[in-house]
Order: sequence, then C-alpha cells, then structure tokens
Amino acid sequence: MARLSSLFDYHDNAFIFFNRGYVEDISDAFSELTEYTKEEILGFSTKEIIELLRINATMQDLEQNKPNESLYIFTKSYEAIETTILVKKLDDINHCIYIFTEKARVSDNLLFVEQLCHDNIRGVAVHSIPDLVLLKANQKYLDFQNPPFNHIENCIGKKFKERVKAFEGSKAEEVYHEIIRTGKSYYPNEYKIEYYQRGITYWNASLVPIIIGGTPKYIIDVGNEVTETVLNRRRLIESQRELESHKLLLESIVENEHDAIAVFNKDCEAIMLNAEARKLYPHFNTETTIKSFHKEFQFYDFNNNLISVENLPTRRAFNREKVRNEKILIKHPDWSQYTEINATLIFDDEDNLELVVVSHHNISDTIKNQEEIRNQQEQIINIEKERNYELVKNMEMKDEFLSLISHELRTPLTVITATLQTLELTCKNEMSDRTNRYLEKVKQNTNRLIKLINNLLDNTRVSSGHFKINKTNIDIIALNKKIIESILPFAEKKDIQLNLYTELASKVIGIDESLYERIILNLLSNAVKFTPGNEGKSIKVIISEIKKQEMIQIQVVDEGIGIPKDKMNLIFEKFGQVNNLFSRNQEGTGIGLSLVKMVVKQMSGEIMLDSNEGFGSTFTVILPAAKVDSVKENIIGQKTEERILQAAAIEFSDI
Ligand code: ADP
Repeated sequence: MARLSSLFDYHDNAFIFFNRGYVEDISDAFSELTEYTKEEILGFSTKEIIELLRINATMQDLEQNKPNESLYIFTKSYEAIETTILVKKLDDINHCIYIFTEKARVSDNLLFVEQLCHDNIRGVAVHSIPDLVLLKANQKYLDFQNPPFNHIENCIGKKFKERVKAFEGSKAEEVYHEIIRTGKSYYPNEYKIEYYQRGITYWNASLVPIIIGGTPKYIIDVGNEVTETVLNRRRLIESQRELESHKLLLESIVENEHDAIAVFNKDCEAIMLNAEARKLYPHFNTETTIKSFHKEFQFYDFNNNLISVENLPTRRAFNREKVRNEKILIKHPDWSQYTEINATLIFDDEDNLELVVVSHHNISDTIKNQEEIRNQQEQIINIEKERNYELVKNMEMKDEFLSLISHELRTPLTVITATLQTLELTCKNEMSDRTNRYLEKVKQNTNRLIKLINNLLDNTRVSSGHFKINKTNIDIIALNKKIIESILPFAEKKDIQLNLYTELASKVIGIDESLYERIILNLLSNAVKFTPGNEGKSIKVIISEIKKQEMIQIQVVDEGIGIPKDKMNLIFEKFGQVNNLFSRNQEGTGIGLSLVKMVVKQMSGEIMLDSNEGFGSTFTVILPAAKVDSVKENIIGQKTEERILQAAAIEFSDI
C-alpha cells in the first residue's frame, strides 16, 4: 500500500522503482524518455541500469547527487539526454526510486549538427564539456575509430580517453582542454591520425566549443579527411625533387658530352648550349636565334658544294624534316670542321613543334684518317700497278729473250746433232772405244741441251698462245708399247722393272702423237729419275678406258721417293721443284711438269697427282678418246720408232 501511495506521488515523472536493488517497475514517462519497455529492463540491477543508460557515475555518486546536477543518459537509439537524477529512498527500506528529469536533448540544442551528421560527408562528433563524453557521432566519424569503437553501441557515452588509448597525455588532449579553457575554436590542418586498418591518415578539422546560456557545453568535432591530398602533394614534391635531380644529371651529361648540343625552342631561339657547343660557337648565348647563329659560317657538303643557309640540316629540322647523320663541312674564317649532324624534334600534345635538339659530332679526325688511308691505299695500288707492269714487261722480255736465245741455240745444236749422227754412221768403226765413249758423252749433253731448249721454246709458245696441236688417229696402246721399249735400257740401267698394264689390245684415238710422247716420256723420265736404283723397284704404266665420258686414262705409277702433300701443287708450276737442294742430286730444270700440265690442258685433258712421300707417286692423265674425223689411222712405223728413240734419248739425257 505504502508503495502504491509513494509511486502515485511521482506517477507523472520518469522513474524506475527498485525493490531490493532490482527493477520492479518503471513509469510510462520513463519508457517515453528512454525508449525502453518495462519488459526489457524488469529485474535489472541498479548497476545494470547505470550501464544501460550509459550514465557516467556510480550508484554511490547518484545517491549523493545534488538534485539539480546534470548527467547524460542515452536512449535505446543512442540519443543523449541531459537529465537530473534524483534517488529517493522510500518508507520501506527495501524500496528505492530513481526519478529522471529531462533538462535538454543534445539534438534539440544542436539542430544544425543534425544535418551535418545526416549528410555523412564529414566525420561529425559531439563531445560533452568538460568530461569529453561522446554524445553524438555519425557513421563517417565511426568509420575511422579503432575497433571495437567503430560501432556506435561501443563508443557512445564513453569518454574520449576510454575510446582512444593514446588520448590521455597527448597533444590532442591538450588541444581539447585549451578549447574548454579558452572557449575558442581550433582548426587543426592536416593532423595525423593512425588508424588500425588504414595506417596513417590526415585530417583537416574544426573543433568548435558551443556555449549555451553562458556555459560551455559541447565541443563539435567536424573532420574532413585529406589523406589523399596530403599524399598526392607529397608524391608531387617527391617526383618534382626526382625530376629536378634527373634534370641536373641530364644537364651535366649533356654539358660534358663530346658532341656539341644545342636546343632551340619553336621560335628558333637557342635555349641551351652545352660546353662543346659554346666552344664551337663561342659568341653565342642562349638568346641567339638560329638565324644569326649561322651568319659567320659557311657550310659545304662533302662534294664541296656550298649549302645555302635555308638548306642547312638544322633549318630543315624546323620544317619537320628528319635529319640523321648528315655530314657537312663547317668553315669559319679561322677554322673548319667536318661534322655529322643529327636533329631530334620534340612535339607537344597537340603535335606542335616545341623543341629542336641538334647535335654536332666532330668527325674531322675520322675524315682525315680515312683520307690518309685512302691516299696510302692509292699509293700502294699505284706502286703495285707499276711493279706489276714492270714484272709483266720483264716477263715478256725474259720470254722474248729466252725464245730468241733458244732459237739461236737450236741452229748450232741441230748442226751438232747432225754432225754427231753422221760421225756415228760413217766413222764409228774408225774410232777407238775411248773416242766413242767421249762421243757418247757429247751426244748425251747435246740431247740435254736440246731438251732444255725444246722445253723453253714450248713454254714460251704455250704462254704466248702460239702452240699448235696436230691430231692424227693412232693406236695409243701400240704407241705406249713403243715408248716403253725405247726407254727400257734407261730403267734396266737402274735395275727398275718397267711394265705396261692394260686390258685393251688396241685403242685408236685422235691425238697429237709427238705431244703425247713428250707427256709420257716426261712422266716416265721423272719416275725413273726419282726411283732409287738397284732396290728391285718397279714402274707401271696402266691404260684404261673411261667409256661413259669417252676418255682414256693413262697412269704412271712409281715406287720412288714420293712428293710431300704441300708440294703437290708447286711441282706443276714453272721451275717448281720439291727440294732444290735434293733435286739437284738429280739433274733437271723444273719446267717439264708445268709444260705437261699446259699441254694436257691444251689437249682438253686433265692431269692429277697422288703421292705418298717415301712410297711413290701416281700421275694420272685423262685425255679425250674421240677419233679425228676423215683422217686415216697413222700406223706406227720405222719413222715413228726413230722419232721416239730420239725423243727418249733427249728426255732421258739428264738421267
Ligand atoms: P725436272 O724433273 O726437270 O726437275 P719437272 O717439272 O719434270 O722438272 O719436275 C718438277 C719436280 O717435281 C721435280 O724436280 C721433282 O722434285 C718432282 N717430281 C716430278 N716427278 C716426280 C716423281 N715421279 N717422284 C718424285 N718427285 C717427282
């Protein structure tokens, strides 16, 4: 009863009725004020109610509270309400009643803040003075709080220092206290806040104290994030610094470049000249325009044609022409320089010519060197030409001389031979053996002279193109048999076997027989000459047909000293001998094989050599086997035999 009558006294007020410290009843006005229903808070302890309403005080504080001292409570939807709280003990000591009297609502006091919060473009927070309890905050503000204080239920009604660990003793705390003390606004620019998720951020803020009825009540904190702006500005400064250092680097590279480099703007004014360019054009400065730039000089192309100023590479570059490695000669009254010019054009975004960079590469030394080399080469070629001319002349003279001498020598030699033959025929029996032996010596040496002279004459004939071939049809097998017969005595003298091998009984071909005899006799005389005697060695002549090609192949195979690989080509050259010193052991001139090669070639044939030093050599001659049309076969008779004998005697005269 007592309880009912007590409550009745307060039934218009917002109150909570506690029985033994737990909520037993609330008034409708309380529900209206806080948005909590009776069912929601029934049975809550006093402490739980203080927590629910986020009252910044303890139960004891409240009990001792003066009736008109303001405290903030927060509704279910987190709205801050300034109230007085009266704690009244009722008659029954177990009963107690908390009476809440609304004094003001933050939202009513700060209507303008509502819109700012609602827009959510800037972070907005309202703090109480002096406790800095968070009374209001929009989502934007919450987004930048460290968890768990980024949720309204975790941070509303909390003091600053409870929400932000680092606040106590910080510069920010000082700032807030200064605002409270002076009542003046504070506008920090780009202040740094480190957030849990985002790291460092920058803010422009307005911290404005709101004074109501002469009492400072709130600090409104409006923050505008400027992290991107600050970072962009820093990046810009950084890249400007980098650009600056790149620019310095480039400038020093360009300045020290060996080439002269000039940069012109679109008005043809030189805006930069490096050290070399200043050396090249000493009286120019960066105000000089291209027009006056060229006044003192004359320019020539490499053919010594004067280049008009309009046609100069640099000028043409201004007309957007490509200038790449253009070589010109610059002439100044005091000096001249061969230069290679390159121009690079730089355009702006709209394709307007902005800059022309021109480089001059001094190539005077290169040109001078090239000229010197060219002159030297020309001199060498001229000397060489003169030498060649003299050499050819000398050769011709030598050939003429040899031919003349040979001719002159041939006549007396023919007389000597004829005389010797007559002597042999007529007086052989009248002469003693001794005289005959001497006579034999005379004959042999006469033949050697004849061989030498014949070779020399034929050589000059072939060289001068006066060589004649008289082909007749003849049985080459029979001819070879005769040749071998004629030289058997020479081989026998050295105890060398000499045999003909062939599967052909006869083979008539069209050939110049005396030239053929010369070829075979030369090869055989060499074979005999270079095969050591009395060692049971043998020489083979092998004749075979190469039917497909209508050719005949004659091989002279010996078991003599052989020819080193590196000398195989040399011996076919005039006067070419394997080893002059060694060969001197054997008589010879070194013209035989060169003549053989020329003659074989004249006969449309080929000669090849295969040799194994120390084991012997094989000379292979291939000749056309076709017969000569409408000519009768030449039968080998007495005359041929005599000629072969004579030829063999001559060819073997130096053995
Ligand atoms: P010559 O015999 O008068 O010296 P050649 O032109 O006939 O001149 O021969 C040139 C050289 O080739 C000879 O001096 C010799 O060194 C070498 N030669 C030629 N034929 C033979 C051979 N069958 N065996 C070894 N050496 C040879």
